Amino acid sequence: MNILLTGGTGYIGSHVATALISAGHQVVCFDNLANSDAAVIDRLAAITGTAVPLVVGDIRDGDALRGAMADHDVEAVIHFAGLKAVGESVAEPMKYYDNNVRGTLSLVQAMADCGVKTMVFSSSATVYGQPQYLPLDENHPTAATNPYGRTKLMIEEMLADIAASDPEWRIATLRYFNPVGAHDSGLIGENPNGIPNNLMPFISRVAAGRLNELSVFGSDYDTPDGTGVRDYIHVVDLADGHVAALDAIVQAAPGLSTWNLGTGQGYSVLDMVRAFERVNGVRIPYRLAPRRDGDVASCYASPERAAQELGWTAQRDLDAMCASSWSFERTLAMRNTG
Ligand code: NAD
Ligand code: UDP
Repeated sequence: MNILLTGGTGYIGSHVATALISAGHQVVCFDNLANSDAAVIDRLAAITGTAVPLVVGDIRDGDALRGAMADHDVEAVIHFAGLKAVGESVAEPMKYYDNNVRGTLSLVQAMADCGVKTMVFSSSATVYGQPQYLPLDENHPTAATNPYGRTKLMIEEMLADIAASDPEWRIATLRYFNPVGAHDSGLIGENPNGIPNNLMPFISRVAAGRLNELSVFGSDYDTPDGTGVRDYIHVVDLADGHVAALDAIVQAAPGLSTWNLGTGQGYSVLDMVRAFERVNGVRIPYRLAPRRDGDVASCYASPERAAQELGWTAQRDLDAMCASSWSFERTLAMRNTG
């Protein structure tokens, strides 16, 4: 299929591009480069041996979207484009509702105009809010606790209404747990601007000496070692999950489906620190710090529905996540010095 990836030069979009190309699809990236670099396109070409077209545009620009879909005979869209920093969303909620919610409305409108009604959407486990039970399955009640999460929930609800209104839509909502790691090539990975909010890029930068020490947010949770537990999933596994979800919605009856993409396995912050140190032979100085506002003690998926309905399960373990994160960090360091 010809597939448009909004946010395709970002962290997850770029990995999904490689997986789709390996599976025989053609991809075109549509990105405003707000949080990514056009050079990712060269790296995708180096990894896949295929030239990937990039349309630099904003999803709030319907004409740009319609032009890209017509120019590239697009048959399906995978929608990654969005802002994702929880703290920023609390400080600047209008920016998040505008970019994420209005942007998605603009996208689905443009898709409908072009007769493209197959879509995979990047949602998040954040839509489950405070877990009422674990592991989290797709039937767990939803309750976002911050503006970023509310944009994801609003979009999920908007997509459900659209699927209900018109039987031609085929929509997959994928609720990601904690994507980490990088492509084996070391050429693409997660490289946030400024000081990372997320654990794994923070650990990588401490290991590289770019940051002095990790603050472990909370050591008095009701978890085995008192630190927060999350379901970390290798981004390459996550990418394969998108290929499986797209195949499933194309083959099954139209409508909207929701799948968790996680491993089902929880690791604590200190598990992550120790694994990174052991696998990569580096030291991660850390200090125990107060809890971060809005964090939950534990969050991990039931991956059963995806296993049964998509035939997909995560294959890569924690060691592979740590090794590939470090390999990407070292590639970045070489790029910056060379
Ligand atoms: P990312 O920031 O690396 O990628 C998002 C891309 O979207 C960037 O390249 C950015 O430039 C682009 N973009 C943003 N707004 C845009 C707009 N208005 N028009 C066009 N392009 C725009 O983030 P990511 O980690 O790859 O996340 C991709 C998606 O997955 C996001 O929707 C995010 O909310 C969701 N998600 C990510 C995580 C995670 O931990 N990384 C977890 C759950 C869900
Ligand atoms: N965390 C931490 N220090 C950091 C960043 C994160 O201790 O500098 C912890 C955080 O409190 C949570 C886990 O690491 O328990 C994962 O956080 P992240 O922000 O990566 O993902 P989240 O699950 O919050 O989306």
